[in-house]
Amino acid sequence: MPISASCAPPTTRRGSGVTEVAAWSLRLHGVGNASAVALGSAMATIERDGAPWLTIDCGGEGLTAFEAAYGDTPRALFMTHAHMDHIAGFERLFVASYFDEARRGNVRLYVPVTLLPLLHQRVASYPNALAEGGANFWDAFRVIPVGDHFWHDGVRLEVFPARHHWPDTAFGLRLRGSLVWTGDTRPIPEMLAKFADADELVAHDCALQGNPSHSGIDDLEREYPRALLARCLLYHYASAEDGAALRARGHRVGMPGEVVALRDPAGEQPG
Ligand SMILES: [Zn+2]
Repeated sequence: MPISASCAPPTTRRGSGVTEVAAWSLRLHGVGNASAVALGSAMATIERDGAPWLTIDCGGEGLTAFEAAYGDTPRALFMTHAHMDHIAGFERLFVASYFDEARRGNVRLYVPVTLLPLLHQRVASYPNALAEGGANFWDAFRVIPVGDHFWHDGVRLEVFPARHHWPDTAFGLRLRGSLVWTGDTRPIPEMLAKFADADELVAHDCALQGNPSHSGIDDLEREYPRALLARCLLYHYASAEDGAALRARGHRVGMPGEVVALRDPAGEQPG
C-alpha cells in the first residue's frame, strides 16, 4: 500500500498503470502518546476524495493539526474514549461550532453509548457553557449514541471494545475492507480476528515498551500472527527515536501528518 508523507492527496495505481487520487485515505494528525506532544495527539481523519470524511477523536494538538491540514474544523467525529489527549480539543470545537449558525447543532458526533456519561463529565459539565448563559454544550453538536455499529454518509461502520483501563470505556472503529483503528488498547487478538478479517489496514496503539494501559511491540509480536502484524500501522509511541526503533524491527510506523491510501470500504450502500 503506497504511503504519502506530504499534504498532497495520496495516489494509487489502478488498472493500466494510470495514477489516480485514492478515493479513501487516512490522515494521521498525531501519533504520539499523551506525553509526546511533539508527535501530536493520537488522532486521525478518514478522507474521501481528499476531503475530511470522519475524524477519530479530538485531542488538543490533534485539532490544531486538523485545522492546519484543512483550514477548517471537523464536521463529523467518532470518539474512542475520554482520556484528555483524545478530547482536549472539544472546548475549542464547541466555540468554533456554536458561533457558526450553519454548523451549530450540525457537527455529527458519534459516541459509544457507554462512553457518553464519561464524555459529558469530562467536557460538557462545566457550569454554563457560555458565561452569559443561554447555551448547552451539546447545542453545538449533533450527538449520536452508537452501539456496535452506525451509519455515516451512507456507509456502515462497526464499533468494538478495546482493552484500555476499564471495560466499556474504550472502543475501536472498523471501516470494513478498508481500515481498523484500535484506539488506545492492550493487544486484542480476539477482537481483531473478528473485526479485522477483511484485509483492512490496522492502525494500532503500540509503543516500544508496553504497560498496563498500552500495547508494546513485544506484546503485539507475541500475540498477533505475522499476517496481521504485516497489516498494522503503529501509532501512539513515545518519541521519534522509539518510532525509528519500531521501524528497525520491521514494522510500519505512522508519522504525524502522513496520509495513507486506503482500500475502498465494503460497507457502502448504493444511492
Ligand atoms: Zn487513553
